[in-house]
Amino acid sequence: MTGRPLREALIDVEAIEQNVRHLRRLVQTEVIAVVKADGYGHGAVRAATAALSGGASRLGVADIAEAVALRRAGITAPVVAWLHGPDPDFRSAAEHGIELGISSIVQLQAAAAAASPDHPVGVHLKVETGLGRNGVEPREWVRVCAEAARLERVGHLRVVGVFSHLSNTSLADDRAALARFHDALDAAAEVGVRPPLRHIAASNAAIALPEARLNCVRLGIAIYGLSPLADRSSADLGLRPAMTLRSSVAAVRRVPAGQGVSYGYTHRTAAETTLALIPLGYADGVPRQASGRGPVMIGDRRFTVSGRIAMDQFVVDVGDAQVAVGDEVVLFGDPTLGRPAAAEWGDAADTIDYEIVTRIGPRVHRTAVSSEMTGGRP
Ligand SMILES: *Cc1c(COP(=O)(O)O)cnc(C)c1O
Repeated sequence: MTGRPLREALIDVEAIEQNVRHLRRLVQTEVIAVVKADGYGHGAVRAATAALSGGASRLGVADIAEAVALRRAGITAPVVAWLHGPDPDFRSAAEHGIELGISSIVQLQAAAAAASPDHPVGVHLKVETGLGRNGVEPREWVRVCAEAARLERVGHLRVVGVFSHLSNTSLADDRAALARFHDALDAAAEVGVRPPLRHIAASNAAIALPEARLNCVRLGIAIYGLSPLADRSSADLGLRPAMTLRSSVAAVRRVPAGQGVSYGYTHRTAAETTLALIPLGYADGVPRQASGRGPVMIGDRRFTVSGRIAMDQFVVDVGDAQVAVGDEVVLFGDPTLGRPAAAEWGDAADTIDYEIVTRIGPRVHRTAVSSEMTGGRP
């Protein structure tokens, strides 16, 4: 008995730091490290700390609660939160020195009203350039900018950035959105909004569309070492996946031909064989959709999930391989170390690796490790 957690996500914080350092050298701009959704499942505070060490100058999150949690953990770097509900707590944001993404005149005025007299609220004005999510409507843009310039003059606001977000539909679509963004920047300048930061690229465009880098990029998936490009692997991009999802074989059983495996008997053994039980299930973020398809390393050998993935566990038919209780099981990690990529689980579940890493469940123990530990045997 090792006392090792039954279900464990190893988080290589050095990989995050090095990925940021590598990407910053590539883009040659300011980097906003995106640590929303608990740092894409890696732990927001450890991801933020590693990204700042790697040269990010600012952190990005979706909502104010995520930003406040970073402050409560002692992170003092600039943080911007850009997704707000109908009744956002801008007062709390102002108290914690959190910058706000602003998508409407109503939000702009609320941000100004939340400022304390001696402390303007930092805002990033977002313009809609075609994604169809939030962002100021192009026909409202000049009015919002003029109001922002006025509120800046009276000391309630500081316009830190103007930004937008791309659809990654095609390079042509992203170039068209970028052209609309440049028009919006010109219009903003005409009414006196000249922000220090201009940002539209997330990981995909920051790598694939250099003209979209401007003077700042918002990097999410790439800092965690996963490729934002369908046709290029992490290694192709010089990135190292930071998360390794592992467990241990919980039970083995020798069974005859014809044995049904897991709910619904969607797998039946073809011959006498060994079944290994893995204590990870869909409650842990192993997608049931990947039943019969997801890749699994047991020791140094690669297998495929057999039958249905259940809430807490799944089974692997390992044939005559020597597999014992306690053997290390890795679902995904760094492919250069022979592990399946998170993207393979994405493919197996008809989704993307973003969803695989962000949905790792609360029963999975996150263990921060250094690089040599993720590559080493237990
Ligand atoms: C999540 C998000 C990002 C980061 O996207 P990646 O593809 O993970 O780099 C950047 N900007 C906005 C507005 C986002 O919502």
